[in-house]
Amino acid sequence: MIKVCKFGGTSMADGTTVRRVAAILESDPERKYVVVSAPGKRYGADVKVTDLLYETHAEVAETGKCGPSYMKVCERFESVARELGLPSPAELLAETGREIEREKSADFTASRGEYLCARLVSGFLGVPFVDARDVVKFTPDGKLDGPRTFALTAAALAGKERAVLPGFYGEGADGKVKTFSRGGSDISGAILARAVGADLYENWTDVSGFLAADPRVVASPAPIEMLSYRELRELSYMGADVLHSESIFPVREAEIPVRIKNTFRPGDEGTLIVPVSRYRYTGRAVTGIAGKKNFTVILLEKALMNAEIGFTYRVLEVLYRHNISFEHIPSGIDTMSFVIDSEAIGGVLDEVCAEIRAAARPDSMRVFNDIALIAVVGHGMSRTIGISARLFDAIARAGVNVRMIDQGSSEIDIIVGVENAQYERTIRAVYEEFFDKTDD
Ligand code: ASP
Repeated sequence: MIKVCKFGGTSMADGTTVRRVAAILESDPERKYVVVSAPGKRYGADVKVTDLLYETHAEVAETGKCGPSYMKVCERFESVARELGLPSPAELLAETGREIEREKSADFTASRGEYLCARLVSGFLGVPFVDARDVVKFTPDGKLDGPRTFALTAAALAGKERAVLPGFYGEGADGKVKTFSRGGSDISGAILARAVGADLYENWTDVSGFLAADPRVVASPAPIEMLSYRELRELSYMGADVLHSESIFPVREAEIPVRIKNTFRPGDEGTLIVPVSRYRYTGRAVTGIAGKKNFTVILLEKALMNAEIGFTYRVLEVLYRHNISFEHIPSGIDTMSFVIDSEAIGGVLDEVCAEIRAAARPDSMRVFNDIALIAVVGHGMSRTIGISARLFDAIARAGVNVRMIDQGSSEIDIIVGVENAQYERTIRAVYEEFFDKTDD
């Protein structure tokens, strides 16, 4: 058995947490390959090393030199090294500072948190370091070059019993360091698991897996023991942020299961994420509820829209020209709604609406702001009769007006649009209906 383990920022926050990680690795010889994040917060008001590095980049852009933020980065790594009884990394930090000043790139600067952390952890564990820059490659259009990355990673690890790799970055087609989006070390771990053909990808974080709802909204929500890749994708896309929403792609193709584990409660089972073929139906109709606020809905109405060729095309063409992506397009016979992230369309809403009016000539157009979307997700929904009735009945009983419904085509989720102000109330009502009742 080969297990690939990714440890997040809180697991790397200081010497004590790194020692925990070492103990977790030692307790299971199958945990051979490790991906690390940059040191995260040690306490609530602390600053993540990655954020200090983005500040460093701003300082270098302004003055040409690393400033106080990089000093703070150096202090963080000096103190981790001291706590681990390692020699001072002063020379490595100074050299990295000079590289940051030379490269002047945000991606390069931000990537150094993972780089330095992996160097330190590799020294502490006595396990070889492999630089992600040498093995994780991007295509000229900025996408992960999967085949090349998997081959290079497998080749670099051949003959290595164990290894430590930095997460979050690789190398672009221009030969420069390029990062994934924030939280991207999860993707790096998935890439590594895929490249070595791991039996399990363990993602170690500071929570014991996914919960059936956001604990800031619902008091003590039930933990989710098992999720399918598809359910995970729906939940994390809609805001459940335990795992980066793109990290599933590399492992899904090879059907490698993922287990979310808690570094601070290693005995907890966590959540196991599996392909649908290995999914064990729990008897519960709904697996989880997630949601996001702040969407704008543009509702268009036109008689005989269904018979008009090119209507949607003309609307989408306007969005495309403004480089705006949409989240959903629920549609009826003569109506169609475009659900768009409010932040993405905010500054150009009036312009976009005028262009849509001119291009698609709808009979009417209405815009709703401050809409929240709530996704109710679960494979059990399609096997259970009456789920939507129960769902909408629960929402109605809570006195919430549903502004939009999208059952989607995936059968495993129903998306409900409500006003931002009703977001929490709706989630609580749905949770109570499907989790607090015993008749499930
Ligand atoms: N350190 C990076 C971030 O803060 C990447 C990661 O932790 O996954 O986003």
